[in-house]
Amino acid sequence: MDKRFEGIESFKNRVWLASPTLHGEESKWINEAIETNWVSTVGENINEVERMVQEKIGLKYAVALSSGTAALHLAIRMAGERLYGPKPANVGTLTGHKVFCSDMTFDATVNPVAYEGGEAVFIDTETDSWNMSPEALEKAFEIFPDVKLIVVAHLYGTPGKIDEIRSIANKHGALIIEDAAESFGASYKGVQTGKFGDYSIISFNGNKIITGSCGGMFITDSEADAHKVRKLSTQAREDAPWYQHEELGYNYRMSNIVAGVIRGQLPYLEEHIAGKKRIYERYRDGFKDLPVSMNPIPENTEPNYWLSCMIIDENAMCPQVRSERKVLYNTEPGKSCPTEILESLMAFNAEGRPIWKPMHMQPMYRTNSFVTVQGLLRGRSNAYIDEGKAVDVSMDIFERGLCLPSDVKMTEQEQDIVIDIIHRCFK
Ligand SMILES: *Cc1c(COP(=O)(O)O)cnc(C)c1O
Repeated sequence: MDKRFEGIESFKNRVWLASPTLHGEESKWINEAIETNWVSTVGENINEVERMVQEKIGLKYAVALSSGTAALHLAIRMAGERLYGPKPANVGTLTGHKVFCSDMTFDATVNPVAYEGGEAVFIDTETDSWNMSPEALEKAFEIFPDVKLIVVAHLYGTPGKIDEIRSIANKHGALIIEDAAESFGASYKGVQTGKFGDYSIISFNGNKIITGSCGGMFITDSEADAHKVRKLSTQAREDAPWYQHEELGYNYRMSNIVAGVIRGQLPYLEEHIAGKKRIYERYRDGFKDLPVSMNPIPENTEPNYWLSCMIIDENAMCPQVRSERKVLYNTEPGKSCPTEILESLMAFNAEGRPIWKPMHMQPMYRTNSFVTVQGLLRGRSNAYIDEGKAVDVSMDIFERGLCLPSDVKMTEQEQDIVIDIIHRCFK
């Protein structure tokens, strides 16, 4: 055992990154669905959660789906059809077209572009918000002026620079798909995320701020779009006396059981946000004397604080090398690195996580174009620091950053031990 950690005891119960926080009311709505025999993809829980979500976000329609990924797929299919017209069943609606996508995100944000035959062009991250850089986006339009679609995520529950991205999109006549999977309840200039995209989605995956065990939603102000998404999500059945199919559909609707869990969870959204915010602030205060900073909160935004993250100052990074699947580091006094911190937390039964590995660094997408404020970079750049300034911002945040245990159920005492462990990593 490393001497630096003497005297610390392992957590008896694991301290999670973000696990479901249930309140008991979920079972009431699940049981009601079972007792009334409404367990399929129709029922009161579904109607009710759609109503509650559209009310919260401030849009007229919400369509409950099996996952956030399914919601993104349908959003992208809708955008593809609107931009480039309907296609035969075996041809993706984005075939032959490029799409600008957030680079530092979960790959569910961008995979549906590939499902529809499109080619993602990754847009670098900005240090201000850890979201899509409007400057790099502008650059991307200089290089690829024909692009008509942007997929943008709000990372870790912090809204990106929505106004800037919207005005760039408008200037180039492009549509925006807003991936608010992680940011349900967060707002930008007082407006909820999920309200800005031409097509927007949220997720109820097991580790999101509100969970249904799984599930997602497509949200919109357009009755026609809501109707079409509902139809596509139920195998695109036409209004006919038999199973009539005139376009390609999916089995993407949410079940009334899953909706029951969400229905029990939704009244606790604000409570979860308040809990996550307390966690973020306690970390921020606890790390004041360390060479690190928290994930940034830009002006005009009220995050939902889904995950608390930190980034280590460049001069306090101990040497760390990552290959495709393995990592090596050397511990040095006064310094640390994400791997050392994550391993130390795990040694005491606390769960952190690396930052989302940027899409342009993923083997699957490595040959796709990647645009930074400096212009086009293809694949993994090996000279990402230019005169001490990070050019490939995504990679820089991935190298120096990490996600901290952010579970709503974590006690202050537990969090203080997490903070103590991290201090000792820098000893
Ligand atoms: C979780 C997540 C999704 C996908 O949601 P699922 O419900 O898990 O399919 C999409 N984008 C981002 C950024 C996410 O974090």
